Formats: sequence, C-alpha cells, structure tokens
Amino acid sequence: MRIKEIREIGIPLEGRIANAVVNFSEHDVSLVAVISDVQRGGRPVAGLAFNSIGRFAQGGIMRARMIPRVLGAPPDTLLADDGQRFDPARVLAAAMRNEKPGGHGDRAGAAAALELAVWDLNAKLAGEPAHAAIARAYGRDPAPREVDVYAAGGYYYDAGSGHTLGAELRRYRDMGFDAFKIKIGGAPLAQDVARVEEALAVAGDGSRLAADANGRFDLATARRYAQALAPYRLRWLEELGDPLDFRLNRQIAETYEGALATGENLFSLVDAENLAAFGGMRPGRDIFQMDAGLSYGITEYARMLTMLEANGYDRRQAYPHGGHLINLHIAVGLGLGGCEAYPGVFQPVGGYAATCALGGGKVRPSQAPGFGLEEKDELRPAIARILG
Ligand code: MG
Repeated sequence: MRIKEIREIGIPLEGRIANAVVNFSEHDVSLVAVISDVQRGGRPVAGLAFNSIGRFAQGGIMRARMIPRVLGAPPDTLLADDGQRFDPARVLAAAMRNEKPGGHGDRAGAAAALELAVWDLNAKLAGEPAHAAIARAYGRDPAPREVDVYAAGGYYYDAGSGHTLGAELRRYRDMGFDAFKIKIGGAPLAQDVARVEEALAVAGDGSRLAADANGRFDLATARRYAQALAPYRLRWLEELGDPLDFRLNRQIAETYEGALATGENLFSLVDAENLAAFGGMRPGRDIFQMDAGLSYGITEYARMLTMLEANGYDRRQAYPHGGHLINLHIAVGLGLGGCEAYPGVFQPVGGYAATCALGGGKVRPSQAPGFGLEEKDELRPAIARILG
C-alpha cells in the first residue's frame, strides 16, 4: 500500500465579513487529496482535508517542499506497523524532513492539511467515520456521541449591507444553536458593549455568549474591556491581546473572574506549553482553542492535550478554533469540550453537513466514512475538481 499522488487546490472563502483585525474576503483554504493505490468501486481511495478557516491556502509550501518529500519517502516508512493503514505521524515526519525547529507559521497549516488527509484516508480504508478512527488511535471509545457546539459569527457588517448582528444570531438560533460568539474590538468600547447587549437579547444569558477580540488589544485596552464586560458574565473573552503575549493573558487572568479563551494562533506543542506555563490559564475555567488544522494536524494536537492534562487542565477545556467537519470529528474522537460552527459563512468549508444532527446546542457527526466532507453540499464542486 502506498500514496500514489498528493494534490492541492486553493479554494476561496465566501463572505464579506470582518473581525477586529482582518477582512476575510481575501482568505482561501488548501483542499488536499492524498490518493492511495487502493482501489474501491473502480476508483482509488483518497483522503481529503483542508487547513483551517480564516487563514490562507498553503499550496506553495506543499508543492515546493512537503509533497515531494512524502512522495519520495520509501512507501513502507509511511505505514503503521501493521501495514493496514498509513501512519499520520510518519507521514508528518516525512513532510517535515530537513525543516528546522521553531518558526511555526504557515508551514504548520500546510503540514496539517496533509496530515489530516491521512486520517481521512485511514478512516475510509477502515470504512468508519474519522471520529472512530481518531478515538481508536488514542485508546478512546470510538462510539459516536454528540458534542457541545456554539455558533461563531457576530461579525462587523458594512453599514447598509442589509445585515444586523441580532438578525444573524436569530438565524443561528432557528438552526438549533443556543450559544453564540461575536466579535469585539472592531468598534469603540461603548459600541461593542451595545453589540454585546444586542447579542444577549438573543442568547438570553451571558453563559451562552462569548466575545472574541482577535488579539487586538494592548494591556490597558484589554483591562478596560474586561472591566466593562465583567458584569455580563460572558461565557468567555477570547484573544484579548496578542496571541503570543502570555504575560498580558496572565495579567488579565489575575483580575478578571470570568473565563478567558486563547490558543488558536499557537501552532505547536511548545507554544501551547508556554501558554500553559506562563499565560495564567486556570484549570477548570479557561478555554484552549488550539486547532489541529493550523498546527501540524492531529499528531501534534493530541500531544498538546496530553501536555494540558499533565499540567492539571481538563481536555473538556479544549474547544478548537475552526467550526467545520474536521474539528467536529476531532472533538468527538478526542473527548473535547466541544466545537464551534460557522453556519452560513466561510463556505464552502465552514459549518457542518446536513447529515450531522444539530439541535439543542449539540451536534453529532454522521457515520459517513472519514470526515464526511463528501456529504457537504457546498464542498462537492471543489472535491469533484480535486479528484478529477
Ligand atoms: Mg477567535
């Protein structure tokens, strides 16, 4: 058994939306197909995955460095010991050959898309959903289950666009979501407080509303926001300061009673370890949002979970960034606290397939083989294109 070919296409993300820092209309995603020499139904079995939402496609890094390394590795060195499946960690190691430690940037997303496609491929070879393959690989219960989900959105719309925050969240509520996350930091504090109140009118209670500043604030601004929003007892405040400013995070955690969330812009085990060591994150309270699709895939992500647990945190404090099918399977397979969803935005990759059961603030993956990306209507044209 061997990998015959690896393809990548960049697909643009739809949506004229913005958070405090970036406009997503220029963002795209790498869709990757890892094509095996195993034939089923007259077609080769192929693993599909993408790197995460809200970033960029990484075809250059993949084509120039990683794909040739994987295809050039002796085929046996990419297999698990039993020879029945590919070993994602070994494929990752091949992709990373001759790369120096540190400097985890776009490279981590490129490697992640490849590594995640290997998980999809393995699950398809075994004829099971990816959450079961992931659970089995880490000695966990492969049974399907539902996980907590919240609708992430609450972006800043252009005035006169015909969209409002309240209408957006009501639409999510009608879909079956009962918890939400909105952006803050893209407007003056008073206006953001008004946005929080507008969102609370839909969410009903602070425990069902989180607010995300996307790393925008300096310490003084972060303090002002934390103080102003404390009375609302929100579910969490996300990325108030620069994602690598662990001291700022700790200083806010020392005075802000509510939960803080961060980690989506940490792309390696060591970065997450530094957050745990120096960021003041509180066991049982704060939320870790590292995202396998941005950080070398499930191999590295699982190491982060082990590290968190060794430092007194609970894996249910992990809510990966990136609301899509891949992270739903990871959340179910690894027993995480839950996942987010981006219903209606970031298409074609955001949100879940219609075959996933969504309701009462929970979501359950379908039992399609792999991540079930083929079941997502919006993704079908891109999948047809990459598989030719
Ligand atoms: Mg965020």
